[in-house]
This record gives sequence, C-alpha cells and structure tokens, in this order.
Amino acid sequence: MSRVIVDDLPFELTIPVAVVGGGAAGLCAALAALEAGTEPVIFERDALPQGSTALSAGLIPAPGTAAQRAAGIADSIDLFARDIQTKAHGDADPVVLKAVTEGAGPAVDWLTERHGLAFTVIDDFTYPGHSARRMHGLASRSGAELIDRLRGAAEAAGVEIVTGARVTSLVATPEGRVRGLVICRPDGSVERIGCGALVLGCNGYGGNRALVAEHIPALRDALYFGHPGNQGDAVLWGQALGAALKHMSGHQGHGSVAHPHGILVTWATMTEGGFQVNASGERFWDESSGYSEAALAVLGQPGGIAFDIFDERIAGIARQFEDFRRAEAAGAVVQAESSDELARRLSIPAQVIRATLDSVARFKQDRTIDPFGRDWTGVPQLESPYQAVRVTGALFHTQGGLAVDAAARVLRSDGSALPNLFAAGGAAVGVSGPDASGYLSGNGLLTAVVLGRIAGGEAARLVS
Ligand SMILES: Cc1cc2nc3c(=O)[nH]c(=O)nc-3n(C[C@H](O)[C@H](O)[C@H](O)COP(=O)(O)OP(=O)(O)OC[C@H]3O[C@@H](n4cnc5c(N)ncnc54)[C@H](O)[C@@H]3O)c2cc1C
Repeated sequence: MSRVIVDDLPFELTIPVAVVGGGAAGLCAALAALEAGTEPVIFERDALPQGSTALSAGLIPAPGTAAQRAAGIADSIDLFARDIQTKAHGDADPVVLKAVTEGAGPAVDWLTERHGLAFTVIDDFTYPGHSARRMHGLASRSGAELIDRLRGAAEAAGVEIVTGARVTSLVATPEGRVRGLVICRPDGSVERIGCGALVLGCNGYGGNRALVAEHIPALRDALYFGHPGNQGDAVLWGQALGAALKHMSGHQGHGSVAHPHGILVTWATMTEGGFQVNASGERFWDESSGYSEAALAVLGQPGGIAFDIFDERIAGIARQFEDFRRAEAAGAVVQAESSDELARRLSIPAQVIRATLDSVARFKQDRTIDPFGRDWTGVPQLESPYQAVRVTGALFHTQGGLAVDAAARVLRSDGSALPNLFAAGGAAVGVSGPDASGYLSGNGLLTAVVLGRIAGGEAARLVS
C-alpha cells in the first residue's frame, strides 16, 4: 500500500538525493545528479533494474543530434515540437513540451559522448507523425540493450543502485516537504532512509488494474504489455502530498502485438505499405493514424483480434528489430505464396481477402485516399509471398501523471511547486494530451530520458 507518513522520527541513514525506480528516467536522473556534484542513490524494487524501458524498442526521438547530422538529416526543435503538438491535437502540456524538445538533442548527445551509448538514427523508414527521421536507437534497436547500457553507465560513474528495495511509503512534513522514504526488502525487513530531495522515476499506473479502470475504462480488461511493477505509486504519493495530476486518461496503446505469442510486431509493417484486416478479411480503419490508437481499433473487432498483412520487402525492414526476429522464430509470422494460401493459413474467407488485397492495390495504383481516410500516395505495392501476423491490442504505458514544471518539480493544483519533489518519465505528465491518439512514437522515452536528466540535475542543485 503506497502512502505518505507524516512524522518527525529519525532515519537510519540520510542521503542527499534519492531516486525511486531504476528505469530510463531514474538512471538518467541519477547520472545527472552525480554530474551536478551530489551522490544519488537509486531504490529499485526488482533484483535487476529493467522496467518498461527494457520492454521497449529503446528508440528515443531527438532533433539536431550528432547522429542525425552524420546521417545528413535536417531537423529542428520547432519541427519536432510541432509534430508532437499536431499528434496531441494541440493538447500537449506546453511547458513539458518545450523542456523536452529543447533537451532531447543534448540528452542523446550526452549519453553518446559522455556515457558511450552509440545511438544511430533509424534512416530506412519514418515513424508516423514524425516529419524527420529522428528516432535514435542502439545497435539491436531494443530496450533491453538501452537499459543494460544505461545501468552500465550509471555503475561505471559510481551511482549506487539498491535493488530489491521496494519503496512503500514516503515520509513528509505536514507542508509537503519529503523527509525520506520507507523501503521494504524481499525478506520483509523495512528501512527508513532520509533524503534532501526525491526524484520519482517509478513510471505510471499501467500495472494497477484499479487505476486503469478509473482513468482508462476502455482498456480495463486489455493486456498490459508494460512492466508489472509500475503500480502508480508516484501518482498515489503525489496526490497524498497535494500534487496535481494531469491528462490521466492519456496513454500509449498498441494494436500490433502478436497473439497469443505476446511479441510486439513493429508498426513499420503498416507504414511501409501493409494493412490490417479482421477475422472476416475486411479492413476496418486507417492504419496510418498510428499504433497507439490501433489498440482500441483492434480490440473493437470480433474477438479483439486482427491480422497484419504485409510482404517480404517489409519483413526485411522489420527484421532490424529484435522483437520481429523473435516473432518469426516463435512462428507468429505466416508466409503465403498467394491470396488463397493466405486465406487458408489465416482461416478467413478467400474471396474477401482477395477483394481486400485488390482494393488496396488499386488505392496504391491510383495514389488515392481510401474511404477510411488513408492516403496511399507513393506507397509501394505488396508482392507475393505475403506475410501475416495475428495480433491484438494492448496497453503499453500510461502518459498521464504528476503535473511538473520545466525543472521537473512536482506542482500542486495552485501551480506552486512542492519543495523537494521531482518526477520524470511515466511518473510525470507526458506530452501526449489526454487521448491514446495523442501519442507520437517516442513520447515515452523522450520524457524518461530528458525529464530524468533535468530532474536529477535540479534535485542535486537544490541540495548542494
Ligand atoms: C512494449 C513497449 C514498447 C515501447 N516502445 C517505446 C519506444 O520505442 N520508444 C519510446 O519512447 N517509448 C516506448 N515505450 C514506453 C517506454 O518504455 C516508457 O515510456 C519508458 O520506459 C518509461 O521509463 P521510466 O523510467 O519512466 O519507467 P520504467 O522503465 O518502467 O522504470 C520504472 C522503474 O521503477 C520501478 N518501480 C516502480 N515502483 C517502484 C517502487 N515503489 N519502489 C521501487 N521501484 C519501483 C520499476 O520496477 C521499474 O524498474 C514502450 C513501452 C512498452 C511497454
């Protein structure tokens, strides 16, 4: 039970900056706090820090990086901010938006130059809604590599990471100043640690069914694809301290999770010219809208199931992602030489899938906008052999959270800042507004890495 204890009892130990959570947000916060001259300690509930960061594709959007320049890509902070705000229908928090779009390029360069994370830009396809190629990933394009490298960097720099340490409560003054925290060890023992400032990097509430039902009722029964330890502690503690919550219904869904394998199938299968059909073989929406809103579109089909249809050329692009290679190895990707074989292998009516393939081919040939609103101009035709994956929709992570200012300080409802509490990543409000359709690819790690870096630096300055 996450709660805030108000007392003035002593602590066993007091540290300058405590960080809850060892995901991308917590690790970046700790690295920045260390560099700003203090000794942060991360408290992580798991035996090995992984979080949702490890489950992600590990892709961070950023404009104006050295990697972008090396690839000859023109981009700017303004263009990036406009793309995020366009996807969020103008509802992205303007203060957080400015902070993260300005800080993204420097943060990616910082991780590369100072901590040896060799990011390169994905330059063979453009994520929907991004008007420049600006997704930065490590070699395997996996979040597992990202978290391993961030943890390695933190350890090499001398950050102390206390694992197997679930923070169960905060200790505060009646005015809302955090005095410390209570951690519970796997053997049930409890420790009270004092701190000068606290950074919440413990993500959102995707793993908390009751909070999901309260804030995103449409996904109350959906598969949660993020880290189960993310139980909404940050929002519960923040609320108890008088913090404001913002855009709590905002989230990232995904409508392309191989079913029943439970493996993410990259949305490049759609953007590069593929499409989705339901169990009757019919298309049901504009797949170019984005993968986040795809969760609800797919879950709205009979059985909550759809099929991604694409071809070998697109599979070649998708294979750069470890997840796609895993999906292939697990037998989730079906190959078919003809539309009839495709229909047989997917158990859908042959004449319907044939008609659907023909109609998409016509839209592409005519360079037209289809009745769902998808613009097929310049999209290459599919060639046999076809490929298909049975998919479902899932909740990936929540985007609403604690209201913060440009220094990542947690705000009360009247706009004033709590004295020494900071939040980053999924713990803080994101830049996607209140709807799934407001999520632009990369918004998750963007606020984890950039707000994390800001929060750590500001927390260190506060206590020094
Ligand atoms: C499948 C998937 C794919 C994704 N792909 C992308 C992508 O390519 N690009 C992108 O930008 N975003 C992506 N996201 C979203 C992205 O993963 C998250 O937005 C980001 O990882 C959040 O980072 P974080 O540090 O806030 O949280 P996390 O990485 O989840 O870290 C939070 C940590 O806090 C710990 N914790 C929680 N509560 C406590 C507690 N009480 N005490 C101690 N420790 C605690 C958890 O164990 C965890 O280790 C994806 C998400 C998923 C699920």
